[in-house]
Amino acid sequence: MKMAADADLVIVGGGPAGTAAALGALARRPAARVVMLDRSGFPRDKACGDGIGPVAVDVLAGLGCLEVLHGAMRVDRLRIGAANGTPVADRVDAPGYVLPRRVFDARLVQAAVNRGAELCREKVTKLTVHANGVVVNGRFRAAAAIGADGVHSRVRHEIGAGAHPRQHRAVSLRAYAQAPRREPELVFRLPRDPWPAYAWAFPTGDCRANVGVVLLDGRSPSNGTRLRELIAHTLPEWTPLADSFQGHHLPLSPGRPPPGHDRVLLAGDAAGLVNPVSGEGIATALLSGMLAGRLAVAQPARAGRLYRAALGRHLRAHLRQADLASRLMRSPKWTAATIASAGTSPPVFAALAGLTVGTDTMPLHAGARIATQRLRATFRV
Ligand SMILES: Cc1cc2nc3c(=O)[nH]c(=O)nc-3n(C[C@H](O)[C@H](O)[C@H](O)COP(=O)(O)OP(=O)(O)OC[C@H]3O[C@@H](n4cnc5c(N)ncnc54)[C@H](O)[C@@H]3O)c2cc1C
Repeated sequence: MKMAADADLVIVGGGPAGTAAALGALARRPAARVVMLDRSGFPRDKACGDGIGPVAVDVLAGLGCLEVLHGAMRVDRLRIGAANGTPVADRVDAPGYVLPRRVFDARLVQAAVNRGAELCREKVTKLTVHANGVVVNGRFRAAAAIGADGVHSRVRHEIGAGAHPRQHRAVSLRAYAQAPRREPELVFRLPRDPWPAYAWAFPTGDCRANVGVVLLDGRSPSNGTRLRELIAHTLPEWTPLADSFQGHHLPLSPGRPPPGHDRVLLAGDAAGLVNPVSGEGIATALLSGMLAGRLAVAQPARAGRLYRAALGRHLRAHLRQADLASRLMRSPKWTAATIASAGTSPPVFAALAGLTVGTDTMPLHAGARIATQRLRATFRV
């Protein structure tokens, strides 16, 4: 059989996870042959809030490509509002950025190509694993492969990991909108119904914003019309542009599969690494991609085991707490107690930000304060 590529590494997907994998691999072994396959041409749009959190910024810095954020909107303030309470707002220590994915992803792909990755437009349908390597689509042979092909990952399917469980597959719709004039901040608003869900408005500059809504339980009844109505109802000050709606699923971390076997690793949405409280997935896509890329070229035969351990060291504690927080969030009363505590205590606000738009764990004192607030509400102390 004639092979299109005999490579050290084949990466399926050229989103944040795939490009970070290529950059990580080439940082570890600059002479490695790294082939990146994507079914789309770049630039391409991707349904997203376009919010790039502080952990994502750190990973980009580590990969030496902070220039991809050039001209992005810098935001260091969060505003969170529950349906039946006063919104709370504060500055956060580490800023985030807002940059449309059409621009961000194309710049990342270019950065990977500039460092030596080969980009091919190819829809992957088949992956087979052999004793000494993997073969993708019968034509691309490599020592290892990384599935960075998003929430409906073909690679995940090919290695038998199954689809992301429906209840942990959030449903989301985003649009670009005309924004009211106000201080730049990331706005989160929680509707009363449906639950658990939230709407967001993130400033992109030029009096525009990325707005949207996410239903965190994938079993909630939804369709495009209902989600559009929910955006209009929850974010009345923003006016969405009619042709900018795009929907997609988010694979929340409680449903994640094992992130790899032997020579095939999963990264980003393919590995189900989206924060189940905030829906943030770019940071974990970049982080997991970078780790997977490094290990796949360093030790392809043992990469699966090493990657699992590395991912655990970086994310296990955070994901456990985020999973627990998402279970508590199923109760509107716990959510109200959390927001109320954040409103009266800057350390709780900071801890909440760290858990939702970072990869931190929540300090004990912040958890205790939220629990106390919850008990007070029950007994009306
Ligand atoms: C509406 C919405 C809002 C969101 N908002 C935010 C936010 O503000 N901040 C944040 O951090 N996260 C957000 N997320 C999550 C974030 O978008 C994802 O976690 C992130 O895109 C994951 O990156 P990835 O590289 O794993 O996958 P993707 O970005 O989905 O990239 C996967 C790539 O694989 C390619 N591909 C797929 N299948 C194949 C195939 N068979 N063959 C070849 N190529 C293939 C695709 O073309 C694509 O380029 C949001 C998600 C949604 C749906």
